[in-house]
Amino acid sequence: MPRLPAPDPPGQPLIHHHQSGDDLAAGPGEGGIYDLGRPGEPEAEPEPAVPTSLDELAALWRSCAPDLTDEQVAGLARYRDLLHERNQRVNLTAVRDYPGIERRLILESLRLLPALTMRAAVGDRVLDIGTGGGLPGMVLAIARPDLGFTLMDATGKKVQFLADAVEAMGLANVRPLHGRAEEIARDTGYRGQFRVAVARAVSSLPTLIELGLPFVALGGYLVLPKGIDLDEELRAAERAGALVGGRVVEASILPEAGSSVETRLVVIEKVAPTPKTYPRRTGLPAHAPLGLAEKPARSRR
Ligand code: SAH
Repeated sequence: MPRLPAPDPPGQPLIHHHQSGDDLAAGPGEGGIYDLGRPGEPEAEPEPAVPTSLDELAALWRSCAPDLTDEQVAGLARYRDLLHERNQRVNLTAVRDYPGIERRLILESLRLLPALTMRAAVGDRVLDIGTGGGLPGMVLAIARPDLGFTLMDATGKKVQFLADAVEAMGLANVRPLHGRAEEIARDTGYRGQFRVAVARAVSSLPTLIELGLPFVALGGYLVLPKGIDLDEELRAAERAGALVGGRVVEASILPEAGSSVETRLVVIEKVAPTPKTYPRRTGLPAHAPLGLAEKPARSRR
């Protein structure tokens, strides 16, 4: 596949810090009450002895992404090793063991590829909101070197890991970005600039719609892996979408992938420009999600 230049002009520092100075507080998604999308992710697991062999990994990952080259399989394995190693010292993800990283993180991210391939063409920009240790953004970027990825997170140590991994692996199509979605969405270099935005295990649908849709170009998409039980969230998502210019166009269950995780893939199309008032100031999109306020108030004694 043709390699494209990084999504930003060359000669820039590898990490873009959207705010100067202070490290930003971890977002509401981290263990927060809106983190509904990943049922049953355990706190920690016993450390197994060995990582899975490249041959087995190739078979596992190609079950989701048949076009992966040997080089890309090796790249994903390298990313697995870097994540596993740094995660011993720095808290990047609650999934700490090799099989967990290989299946629940990398394979789960590869499951998004068909949805991305349907909607993004060579040279398009893709944003991963709340990428953490690089999920799903790093995985998708290794699988699709022809797309330009921006990996955004509010937590400095996670973005630092991504910058180190990008450098170690020589990934030309990945740009780590440190900051909060609420603030970066005001920047004209990012607002409305992405064909697709993804987010995994970050927040509820109405929150992700408010945080994510401002970044998406008209006619582009939010692609969000979520859990199965989603009816109420989907109703709120419809109402939130109407306010910020989005329409839910899909909420289908993904084919089984050998990870025993049931995933519903929610796709929101940007059908109208997002009013300047969105996203609201930092914290509000998660703490007072759009679409919920309109529910009939329960009586309180
Ligand atoms: N997507 C990763 C990480 C999930 S944890 C994975 O699947 O493993 C949620 C991440 O979202 C955290 O790293 C947190 O820092 C980030 N986050 C939450 N709210 C954010 C916001 N408003 N702006 C930027 N990052 C945010």
